[in-house]
Amino acid sequence: MSTHYKAEYIWIDGALPTAKLRSKTKIVEHGQELTIWGFDGSSTNQATGHQSDCVLKPVFTCPDPIRGGDDILVLCEVLLTDMTPHPSNTRAALVETAKKYAAQEMWFGIEQEYTFFDGIRPLGWPDNGFPAPQFGYYCGVGADEVFGRQIVEEHMDACMMANLKLAGINAEVMPAQWEFQVGPLDPVAVSDQLWMMRWLLYRIAEEHGVSATLSPKPVKGDWNGAGAHTNFSTKAMRESFDVCVQAAKALGEEHALHIANYGAGIEERLTGKHETCSVKEYKFGVSDRGASVRIPWQVAVDKKGYIEDRRPCANVDPYVVTRLITETVCSRL
Ligand code: ADP
Ligand code: MN
Ligand code: MN
Ligand code: MN
Repeated sequence: MSTHYKAEYIWIDGALPTAKLRSKTKIVEHGQELTIWGFDGSSTNQATGHQSDCVLKPVFTCPDPIRGGDDILVLCEVLLTDMTPHPSNTRAALVETAKKYAAQEMWFGIEQEYTFFDGIRPLGWPDNGFPAPQFGYYCGVGADEVFGRQIVEEHMDACMMANLKLAGINAEVMPAQWEFQVGPLDPVAVSDQLWMMRWLLYRIAEEHGVSATLSPKPVKGDWNGAGAHTNFSTKAMRESFDVCVQAAKALGEEHALHIANYGAGIEERLTGKHETCSVKEYKFGVSDRGASVRIPWQVAVDKKGYIEDRRPCANVDPYVVTRLITETVCSRL
């Protein structure tokens, strides 16, 4: 057995308007502590060439299901060289907010939709023209309905082997579009794990020569966009339907702030069509997939549970959406 193992240091860059994932490998001796590390911030829109060093601080680790053995994945926060959070570091602010409202025991479950692309076309789409209109693809089966299942299965296995809390997967309404769900977990854990799962998705799709995009409207026209429905509950919501309704009302008070932070390109996706509510309007309702916020029917039956914010786009930063919802809801309940 080797005296050393591989640690894949993963971080979020400074790309605008939507950050991307980066990673590099550190060889670590068994028994040694994981240390901070550095990188060239001038290549990630996080520094200038003259003062290019940024710091990687490990914050969450899990087994590396791709390399196996003792190898690990290491999610990092980006710091400045004075050890304060880098301006692109949205996790640090979430940690503070989560601490402030910890007593309310907020849980999140995020539905990550995404689309496979083969070059410039969604995977499996014809060279010319379009596939049959949307109908049989959602939760479909068969080679005429489903594109990319092998990657989805490998990604699911990888998340499980990494001990990440995947809740499920399904094929989506647009062909080549899929979804996985993570949670329920506390705000910081759900966000760390979602970034890890995104990294694993890109990495596994890479093996197949396919790219996965989080674009909120990957194909213009009569095709569904891609969201990141954000389900959440406080302890009180898990015990009372009235509190669930109060939380839905609270979200309405910060609609503009939330829309501005729920992913670049949100106005292309929230049109009022394709199971969305217009970006200009805020409404909530039981079972309503045309509402901004849906109260699942089971929650209305049980008279307790959680609610679903349907507005966040697939490309949203989970550190931002969970911070905004926690602040908005917990300060008002
Ligand atoms: P949909 O019917 O909208 O497609 P999904 O089954 O895809 O719903 O996703 C539901 C999500 O809600 C899952 O990620 C699940 O973990 C999460 N969830 C379930 N119960 C709770 C709860 N009490 N608080 C927060 N999230 C929850
Ligand atoms: Mn879903
Ligand atoms: Mn979905
Ligand atoms: Mn949903």
